Amino acid sequence: MPELPEVETIRRTLLEKIQNQTIKEIICYHPDVLINQENLSLNDWLIQDIRRRGKYLLFDLTKAEQSTTENNSIVAMIHLRMTGKLLLEDTIVEPAKHTHVRFILNNGGSLDFNDVRRFGRVTMFSAGNEFSDRGYATLGPEPLGDDFTADYLIKICQRFKRSTIKGVLLNQQAIAGIGNIYADESLFRAGIKPDQKAGEISEELLTVLHQKIREVIAEAIGHRGTSFRDYVDGLGNKGFFQLKLAVYQKDGDLCPVCDTTIEKIKVAGRSTHFCPNCQK
Ligand SMILES: [Zn+2]
Repeated sequence: MPELPEVETIRRTLLEKIQNQTIKEIICYHPDVLINQENLSLNDWLIQDIRRRGKYLLFDLTKAEQSTTENNSIVAMIHLRMTGKLLLEDTIVEPAKHTHVRFILNNGGSLDFNDVRRFGRVTMFSAGNEFSDRGYATLGPEPLGDDFTADYLIKICQRFKRSTIKGVLLNQQAIAGIGNIYADESLFRAGIKPDQKAGEISEELLTVLHQKIREVIAEAIGHRGTSFRDYVDGLGNKGFFQLKLAVYQKDGDLCPVCDTTIEKIKVAGRSTHFCPNCQK
C-alpha cells in the first residue's frame, strides 16, 4: 500500500509533468471508483495544483473557461488504497484491464487510474467540500509538519495509552500518512517493540521515536518511496527505499545492527517485523 513517501513521490512526478495542463474529459470505466455526488462537470478542467495530505492526493481544478452558472473550482481527491496507481501516458492507448478512470489531457495523452484490487477511489468535490469526507477531515498532523512535535507524540500516546505503539502510528487520526512499512522501520530505529502499550513507553524514548519517524519519512521521500510488490510513481518508475529497509518483510534475515534473526508477529491486525534483541 502506498504510504506518505510513495504518495508524495507520485505528487511530485505528476506536478512536474501536468501542472497547468487541461483535463479535456474524465472518463469512468467502473462506476464504483469515481464518486461524484454533486454531479460536477467532467470536462475542461485546468490542473492548478496537486497537493498531498496523509495518503490522499488532491487535484485542485479550475474551469478552463469560467462560467457563472457552474462551479469554477473543484477538488478531485484520490486515495490509492492497496494497489491503486496513477500512470501518465503520452498518447491515448487502449485502457488497461484495471484502468477504472481516465483523465484525457490536452497534450494528447492521459492520466490513468489503474487499480487491480479496486479499493482506491477518485472523489470529486466542490472546492472546500472535501472536508465532508470523514477520513480526510479527521487526519492527524503530517509527520514532517511543524505541529508534529515530540510533545504531541507523548500526548497522543497518553490518549491512546492502551493501544500498542504500532497501532498509534497506524492511526491516521493520530498521525497522517504512516502505514506498515514506515511504522516498522521507525520503531526499529527507536528500539521500541511494536506491541508495547503506548502508555508504557517513557517520554525519553517517545522523543527518540518522534525523531526517527521524521528521519525515516524524509529518507524514504529522498529515495522516491519503497517499491515492494508493485508500487511505481506517476511515470512508472520504482522507488529505492526498499534497499534501506532494516526489518520490514525481513523476517528470517539477520538484523543489520546485531545479527539477531528478524521476527514477524501480528500487531494491530498487521504483519509486523522487528528485531527481538534491538527492540525490547
Ligand atoms: Zn538487532
